[in-house]
Amino acid sequence: MAGLVKGEKFYRGIAVSAGVCRSKVVVLHRSRRAIIKRDLPPESVAPEIKRFEHALVRTRQQITEVQRRVADTMSSSEADIFDAHLLMLEDRVLIEEVIKIIHEQRTNADYAFHTAADRYIAVLEAVEDEYLRERAADLRDLSGRVLDNLLEVKDQFNLRHLTEPCILVAHDLSPSMTAQLDRKFVLGFVTDIGGKTSHTAILARSLDIPAVVGAQGISEELETGDYALLDGYNGTVVVNPTDQTLFEYGQLAKIKASLDEKLREVQSQSAVTLDGRTIHLSANIEDQHDVKAVLAHGAEGVGLFRTEFLFINREHPPTEEEQLQVYREVAAALKPHSVIIRTLDLGGDKFASHLQLAREMNPFLGWRAIRFCLAQPELFRAQLRAILRASAEGNVKMMYPMISGLDELIQANTLVEKCKVELRAENIPFAENLEIGAMIEIPSAVLIADTLAKRVKFFSIGSNDLIQYTLAADRTNEKVSHLYEPTHPAILRLIKMTVDAAHANGIWVGVCGEIAGDAILAPLLVGLGVDELSAAPAVIDQVKYIIRRIKLTEARQLAETALTSESPTEIFARCIEFARQTAPSLFENKA
Ligand code: PEP
Ligand code: MG
Repeated sequence: MAGLVKGEKFYRGIAVSAGVCRSKVVVLHRSRRAIIKRDLPPESVAPEIKRFEHALVRTRQQITEVQRRVADTMSSSEADIFDAHLLMLEDRVLIEEVIKIIHEQRTNADYAFHTAADRYIAVLEAVEDEYLRERAADLRDLSGRVLDNLLEVKDQFNLRHLTEPCILVAHDLSPSMTAQLDRKFVLGFVTDIGGKTSHTAILARSLDIPAVVGAQGISEELETGDYALLDGYNGTVVVNPTDQTLFEYGQLAKIKASLDEKLREVQSQSAVTLDGRTIHLSANIEDQHDVKAVLAHGAEGVGLFRTEFLFINREHPPTEEEQLQVYREVAAALKPHSVIIRTLDLGGDKFASHLQLAREMNPFLGWRAIRFCLAQPELFRAQLRAILRASAEGNVKMMYPMISGLDELIQANTLVEKCKVELRAENIPFAENLEIGAMIEIPSAVLIADTLAKRVKFFSIGSNDLIQYTLAADRTNEKVSHLYEPTHPAILRLIKMTVDAAHANGIWVGVCGEIAGDAILAPLLVGLGVDELSAAPAVIDQVKYIIRRIKLTEARQLAETALTSESPTEIFARCIEFARQTAPSLFENKA
């Protein structure tokens, strides 16, 4: 049913992951269903019909259960509504039509049911009679339930059914769904909602697939089968692009190819300014498979290993041994470079089904990260031991997320000391001098940075969270994305305070939030005195490219001016001007 959008149409959203792709789209509707037609071999037709019948039985059980609950808590007349659903579920004409489609077209039951039910719904919606029109809504509801059962949507939408390349269009994609995306089939994605530093956006950059979020309403307007072009540089999606548009994007691809060549040249060089200031440029990774990209893009090790992605999309948390294998593999592959493993940061927009985290009213302010780990000492212990043990294999460092006060740091360090005692007793090797750092991502941590600095070996500023907590602007909510301003004077002052506290206490400070990978903002961070930048592998080259073209003196000037400015927009404009003048090639593919 492609083609709701007639002619070329542009949608604008937030550009979160660079690149351009064009393809047919697959739409995951709000309920996260993507109906894809699949051809079946003849021997699979009968089992497919059985699968359909089984889904009907399951749906009947579910409706009866809901009806029973409604009757208990409300009135029987409300519960009667479900009788209409049950009747439709037994409608022989509908059922036989579905079976006929499966048979004749040798296709999957979800596609067949969706096709038949949609036809029915369209007929009901077209009649004058109000009663019958209401039945269309009932049938839509019922059809959703049957499809959920056919697609086993209950746990998660499952992208295994994709068999050809597409652009995924969805209302939202959770980080755990995004982590499952297969780059072979998902060329890019676009969502109605989301922000630049949501973990979904971060994963898109890490997977290096073009992505646009916050393109409000797009999932309602597009249909599976529509053709679109997605521009992850400028946050644009063009449906039914004309030849002229395709030509223009062809030019963009040429510019990109020539930029890639320039970027490749700096990959083996270090991130040093024209006047000799070296910045440690490292990468953010989500699992061991990202190591290849770290090496390919010439990052100096890992500045942030987000370990929580080892915990999601699985039945049970990984054991100490399983974690050890992964940490060891990464440490060994990147030796002698350092690998900073961040302890588990679950919660917020990252959930693990097996841990049964309850949905909270304010997940970002709730039971997350170090708070969660300190309350689950056994889970935490397994991770701490695995990290300590991996430190015997390479240059491993560790840091804690979401430190809000000294107590948490002391408690975590006490657990580490206990693990060390155990390992010594078990004769298991680890690096006695393993360096431990704290992430600075909560304003309270900045305000007590001098206290924290005396107890850690380094700071890593988590600007994604620091910005959302300081400005009270949810990092995943596109409606407040205009308030989520990295160049807000409050943010710059907090970064400066952190740098000053770190340096006064003889420790180094890095930034591992998304601003570290933004070529427009990197010079400002260098000017503010940051020692390390850690970003998605795919953007490392650009950051290195610009650092190699600036002078520390100029970057400091930029930072000084920014610190005295009152307007975030003005500061940002200055940063853009500075970056465009210093490295114009980086911006030729931006509108
Ligand atoms: C941050 O908050 O900036 C950060 C790097 O951590 P995460 O994005 O995983 O919350
Ligand atoms: Mg964070």
